[in-house]
Amino acid sequence: MAYLIKGVSVLGGAPADLVIRDGVLAEAGPADEVIDAAGLVALPGLVDLHTHLREPGREDAETVQTGSRAAAAGGYTAVCAMANTSPVADTAGVVEQVWRLGREAGLVDVQPIGAVTVGLGGRQLAELGAMATSAARVRIFSDDGHCVADPRLMRRALEYVKAFDGIIAQHAEEPRLTEGAQMHEGEMSTRLGLTGWPAVAEEAIIARDVLLAEHVGSRLHICHVSTAGSVELLRQAKARGVRVTAEVTPHHLLLTDDLAASYDPVYKVNPPLRTRADVRALRQALIDGVIDVVATDHAPHAVEDKECEWAYARPGMVGLETALPVVLGVLSDLSPDHRWELIAERMSRAPARIAGLAEHGGRLVPGAPATFTLVDPAARRVVDPAEMVSRSRNTPFAGTTLPGRVVATFLRGEPTVLDGKAVR
Ligand SMILES: [Zn+2]
Repeated sequence: MAYLIKGVSVLGGAPADLVIRDGVLAEAGPADEVIDAAGLVALPGLVDLHTHLREPGREDAETVQTGSRAAAAGGYTAVCAMANTSPVADTAGVVEQVWRLGREAGLVDVQPIGAVTVGLGGRQLAELGAMATSAARVRIFSDDGHCVADPRLMRRALEYVKAFDGIIAQHAEEPRLTEGAQMHEGEMSTRLGLTGWPAVAEEAIIARDVLLAEHVGSRLHICHVSTAGSVELLRQAKARGVRVTAEVTPHHLLLTDDLAASYDPVYKVNPPLRTRADVRALRQALIDGVIDVVATDHAPHAVEDKECEWAYARPGMVGLETALPVVLGVLSDLSPDHRWELIAERMSRAPARIAGLAEHGGRLVPGAPATFTLVDPAARRVVDPAEMVSRSRNTPFAGTTLPGRVVATFLRGEPTVLDGKAVR
């Protein structure tokens, strides 16, 4: 099928036509189907560095298929699947299984992340080399959900992946400082009488790991940065030339710890929602590049794991279908040109570069893969969990009005979303 996307604004620029033929963008020519894209903005397909697809093991919360549909609906064309499945993705066999399921679903490119340690146990390095040379060609390794807390193991992991320019993605949480933690440690946790998760538990690990990465000369990525202090550590490390990259989630760019006062477990997440000052620092870091990437940390949970008492609820929020609208809102003070350019960089190009996904995050020019998403920036939508494509509904944005709507997504010339609906 050849498509003509008529009058679309690429990254907020002047309206132009895009032609898709044989999976790539073409100069011009006949089309089988015309899509009127007046008022729509084209972005390179979004790339998520941090998605929990829950398969194998918790298919009641999400599968590779349902998570892929949710991703496409959110404008994504590639997602990196975290390793904390059951069994854990710590062998070539499991990462290849996830990779194959992604290919079968065919809606986004699913790039498995491998575990750093066997069973996420933090004791013994997993088969990093075997995962790297498997069909899944794993390049990023993470024990996400758990911190690689042992400094000697972290050093060895960094040394191991250096040989093939791999990356260790750290969930920065010093476990001895967060035992029993229920929310951010601060005024609000004192008032509510809940055990706090102090900012220093994140910052201590980031400080240690940038030093280790600098010492070894390896690539380090910091997952879901949540504090102003972490931003300062990253700023200093980057200024020194340490090979470190970092991500922030949409929820940490918008929500604050006072929401815990509702005791609604939908706001329970790890790392926890922080303060207004942290949110301000994270937004500034996203704009000035100290934070490279917006990543969703899409964490679907079954109803029984989320609709219970705060203390027993699992941490995490779904995010794939709301990430772009949240970021659009967060960056609403920027000029349109700056805003679209920043979104393309932080939500597509930078994550594609970090993950080594050469077919993603490219410029939308003739000859390039037709892998992009069309967004209606004028639309406003009230988030309704019942309309979500994900198998889980644990969104903190239910009832919130957010700007922007994904109208269509194309992966190598094939539509995965049309008229705002997943095609399969
Ligand atoms: Zn994490």
